[in-house]
Amino acid sequence: MDKILVIDDSAVQAEFLCSILRDNYEVTTCHTAAEGLQAAKEGNFSLILLDVIMPDMDGFMLLRELKGTTLTQHIPVILLTSLADIQYEERGLLLGAVDYVAKPFSPVIIKARVNTHIQLYQYQTHFKQQAMVDDLTGVANRRRYEGESAAKWQEALRFGIPFSICMFDIDKFKMYNDTFGHPAGDQVIASVAKTASSYFRRATDLFARYGGEEFVAVFMGSDGKSAYDFMRTIRQAVEDLRIPHNASVSPWVTISIGGVTLIPKAGDSYDTYLKIADTMLYDAKRMGRNRVVWTNEFQEQWKEK
Ligand SMILES: [Mg+2]
Repeated sequence: MDKILVIDDSAVQAEFLCSILRDNYEVTTCHTAAEGLQAAKEGNFSLILLDVIMPDMDGFMLLRELKGTTLTQHIPVILLTSLADIQYEERGLLLGAVDYVAKPFSPVIIKARVNTHIQLYQYQTHFKQQAMVDDLTGVANRRRYEGESAAKWQEALRFGIPFSICMFDIDKFKMYNDTFGHPAGDQVIASVAKTASSYFRRATDLFARYGGEEFVAVFMGSDGKSAYDFMRTIRQAVEDLRIPHNASVSPWVTISIGGVTLIPKAGDSYDTYLKIADTMLYDAKRMGRNRVVWTNEFQEQWKEK
C-alpha cells in the first residue's frame, strides 16, 4: 500500500483527508512544517499533501525545503489551499508542486487527483529502476555501478571500513561465441551473472555487468584474505555449472578474477584501485585463467595454484 503524508496545522482538516484516503493508502499526518519535513525524510512516501497556510513555516517554504533536499525532492507534492488567487497557484507550481486542491475539499476530487499522482509516481519509479538494470542479466548495469560505487567508496572512507573491488570476466569468451554462436554466448553471460549475483546478497554489496562478458563487484567489511576466499567460491561455482566449452582452460566455462582490498584513506582514489583490480585480472589471465588473483594496499598477494 502506498504511503501518503498529510501536513496540515488543522487537525480537523488532516483527519478529514485521512478519512477520505485511508481505505486505499497508508496515511500519516503531521501538524507542523518541521514535523512534516522530518517525517518526509524518514517515511518513504509516494505523495505529500501540504497545507499552504501554517503558523510556523508556510507551505511554500516547506515545499522549497522538500525540493532542495535529496531525500525528499522526488516525492510529488499536492498543495492544499483556500487561497483561490491565481498568483499563489503559479507560485506553488513554479516551486515544484504537481497539483493544487482548493478547500473546501471534495472527497471525489481529492481521491481522483491523489490516485493520478500516485500512479504517475509508480510509473516513474518503475522506469527509473528499469534504467539501472542490465536487460540480459537482470543485475545492475554500468550506469548504476558508476553511481553507487562512488557512494560506497565514500562510506568506506568515512567509517574506515575495508573495501574490496573485484573485476572478472569469462575465459575465452570470444572463442565460445565463435563456436556456439551469440545467442548461446548471451545465455552463458546470463548464467554466470545469476550464479555470481546469488553470492552478493548483502545490502552493501554491488554487483554489476561492466560490459560484454565483464563484471565488476564492490563489497565491504572483508579483509584481503577473506575477500580472496569468497571470490574463489564464486569462481568454483561458475565452473561447477559445467557449461561445456572447448577452450583447453577447462572442459567447462570458467572465469578469471582479479581484485583488491583496502581501507580507503583520504587522498586515495577509487579509480587507482579499480585499475589495480584490473591488473590483477590481467595477471590471472596471464597465469592460465580460471583463477583468482587478489592483493591489498600493502601489496600482499593471494593467488591460486
Ligand atoms: Mg492551515
